[in-house]
Amino acid sequence: MTDEEPTVKIILSQGHDICGECERIIPAYTVYEEVKGVWDGEENIFHTCKDCLSVRRVFFPRSWRHEDVWGCVWESICNNYGEIPEDCYGQLTDWARGKVIDMVNDYFEMSEY
Ligand SMILES: [Zn+2]
Repeated sequence: MTDEEPTVKIILSQGHDICGECERIIPAYTVYEEVKGVWDGEENIFHTCKDCLSVRRVFFPRSWRHEDVWGCVWESICNNYGEIPEDCYGQLTDWARGKVIDMVNDYFEMSEY
């Protein structure tokens, strides 16, 4: 199989798909993103809930990496010594903002020792 340009769809959840990023069940009647594509000859489908989607859009707008967004956030927190630009927070969903703030706090707690 040759690599294909991924297709991106926004879908209404039926309540039985799991987000590939936070591994929570995507609640029924909320919208989420489905990306289908062929990478390295392998067909894959990725589901991303609206919370994790807001994170990807704010921090990694040109990235096609999936199932790693929170690892990437952690990396950029470390690379920026815990500094996240204020306007990034503003574009996140409430849940995603809370999680990013928790991670920043973890980072500062860790770096105290
Ligand atoms: Zn998610």
